[in-house]
Amino acid sequence: MKNPKWNRDELILALDLYFKLPASKISSTNDEIIKLSKILNQLSSSDKQKEETFRNPNGVSMKLNNFKRLDPDAPGSGLVRGGKLEKVIWEEFSANRSMLEVVASKIRQAVKVGAFAAVAEASEEDELFPEGKVLFRLHRYRERNCKVVKALKKKAMEKNELRCSVCSFDFYQTYGELGRGFIECHHTVPISDYQFEGSKTNMSDLILVCSNCHRMLHRKRPWPTIKELRQILS
Ligand SMILES: [Zn+2]
Ligand SMILES: [Zn+2]
Repeated sequence: MKNPKWNRDELILALDLYFKLPASKISSTNDEIIKLSKILNQLSSSDKQKEETFRNPNGVSMKLNNFKRLDPDAPGSGLVRGGKLEKVIWEEFSANRSMLEVVASKIRQAVKVGAFAAVAEASEEDELFPEGKVLFRLHRYRERNCKVVKALKKKAMEKNELRCSVCSFDFYQTYGELGRGFIECHHTVPISDYQFEGSKTNMSDLILVCSNCHRMLHRKRPWPTIKELRQILS
């Protein structure tokens, strides 16, 4: 059995370490490499059919070496072969290293506190979230599951204001009974500001949006504000 391909989260963590380690230190005995190997194993702890070689220090150092082929500043040419997603991640993050650092550190924190374990399994769509699955799932989890979300919806429903804060779309008005009580909720706190322990979701950080506007809010980094999205729409 072959090890599964590296996913977005894993590659983000690998690229982050790539930029932190001098090329001469990339080896399976390096402490940072060993540490990353452990994190990656924790990250996929639900995956029971893992090979013993799964993301072992050797595999991690090979992956870091893969980035060399994309790096014009790297000495030598690095390994020639590599996955497509590697290139995508490289292009997205190599020019935005502060973002890479933030995202990687948030993923590591989430893994450390096991924050993602409570969240449902990933779907295909999660791959599209630039920050990876772990943070996407956490974001969605906050938007769907907390009491504050329910309270906010209830309040809006009582005032007859269950509509999109951006475009005013009202599901009930358009879909009738089928749409009654439906709206999505967006947690406006950017992932870079997430706290993992002892943090509460404030009602003021949540907004009610239709599914279209919600998608649009997630499309760009940094996320557009409600005001900005309204402006685009008008
Ligand atoms: Zn809308
Ligand atoms: Zn959202």
